[in-house]
Amino acid sequence: EALDKIQALEPKLHSFLHVTAQQALEQARAVDAKIAAGEEIGLLAGIPTGIKDNMCTKGIPTTCGSRILENFVPPYESTVTQKLLDAGAVTVGKTNLDEFAMGSSTENSAYQVTANPWDVTRVPGGSSGGSAAAVAGGECVVSLGSDTGGSIRQPASFCGVVGLKPTYGLVSRYGLVAYASSLDQIGPFGRSVEDTAILLRAIAGYDPKDSTSLKVDIPDYLASLKPDLKARKKLRIGIITETFGEGLDSVVETAVTKAIDQLQMLGAEIHTISCPRFRYGLPSYYIIAPSEASANLARYDGVKYGLRTPDADNLLSMYKSTRASGFGTEVKRRIMIGTYALSAGYYDAYYLKAQKVRTLIKQDFENAFKKVDVLVTPTAPTTAFKAGEKTTDPLSMYLNDLMTIPVNLAGLPGISIPCGFDDQGLPIGLQIIGNVLREDQILQVAYAYE
Ligand code: GLN
Repeated sequence: EALDKIQALEPKLHSFLHVTAQQALEQARAVDAKIAAGEEIGLLAGIPTGIKDNMCTKGIPTTCGSRILENFVPPYESTVTQKLLDAGAVTVGKTNLDEFAMGSSTENSAYQVTANPWDVTRVPGGSSGGSAAAVAGGECVVSLGSDTGGSIRQPASFCGVVGLKPTYGLVSRYGLVAYASSLDQIGPFGRSVEDTAILLRAIAGYDPKDSTSLKVDIPDYLASLKPDLKARKKLRIGIITETFGEGLDSVVETAVTKAIDQLQMLGAEIHTISCPRFRYGLPSYYIIAPSEASANLARYDGVKYGLRTPDADNLLSMYKSTRASGFGTEVKRRIMIGTYALSAGYYDAYYLKAQKVRTLIKQDFENAFKKVDVLVTPTAPTTAFKAGEKTTDPLSMYLNDLMTIPVNLAGLPGISIPCGFDDQGLPIGLQIIGNVLREDQILQVAYAYE
């Protein structure tokens, strides 16, 4: 069914860069055989699953949406995709993304522009736009995305699905192509909170191959899904005041305010919370993320991976022409910003300062979590915008992640769930932020609301 859906919808949606139909059918048959033999099946047995194309899949192209990795076929499996395979998932293909996960609309992919299933003239958000659109369009049941500054939550919001960014370190990054390593985290998309919780359970856990992986027990997230918020102690929800007002679309504000009323009716105690340094998240992110990216992307030199231009007559010109033709405009912009911010004489003024701001933002969250259990904000300031609308204005594109970026800077878990529609029928997202490793609490609130 998923493969039929893919065939019918791909000419319009372009969610996938690579469909692995043969492999999917084999995986599905293997599950059938296990069931017939009365053997135990995995948590994701038979579930059609999409994978963002920045996670390495052995023997299957992994392009990161970039020309520089056009012919790259990984010789190894990432930990997350191995976990999918172990759990019996049917992996249907690799989904489209902004090149190296840099962007908020999936328009920075070197290959194709993914459409929003609710209105194909609009973007699905990004950078995990392919994964969000594929779930929203029913091309797969769940999918994996990665979130460095909002790339799971913002496309979930634009496509009317659920998307969760876990606590930094909960899900292994081994085999995830690095963008900004101190911020990157893989997470699940689903059509419901329950589906999302099941996929999270399947991919979370300690991995010795990732030095930032957390050694923690993975709770049964499904156990925290209860219909209301009254059980046990009253749950305290904080509204971050700084995320309302200027710059926020009034339809989004109205929908989110209504959602908060609903949460109160479900038994939560509502507080207003100030995070005064929240607004410095965006500027510090655009120093830290490009700095890490400029270092991470140095490895694409035409020697070790993918593309190498044939016409160069010495090593330096080979490096230069390979990188000039292999990287797109946004990636080059970030490499230049990052290289500048890290260079001698500017390091203290930019990178070090941004890291200090990061600490202050973390403190704002720590103070907030002394008073409340979870925080809520809109996921994005607007609903899905038209394709092409922001491509020439990087700053207005960057503003999409105003509310999601601080969560990555602090390493916290965050989820986006649908909370209504604007007057054009486009979905709106509510973001719920939890304390470190409190995925159970954000799932609990999300489930009760849903
Ligand atoms: N849109 C943000 C960026 O361009 C976040 C991307 C992401 O989370 N991968 O960097």
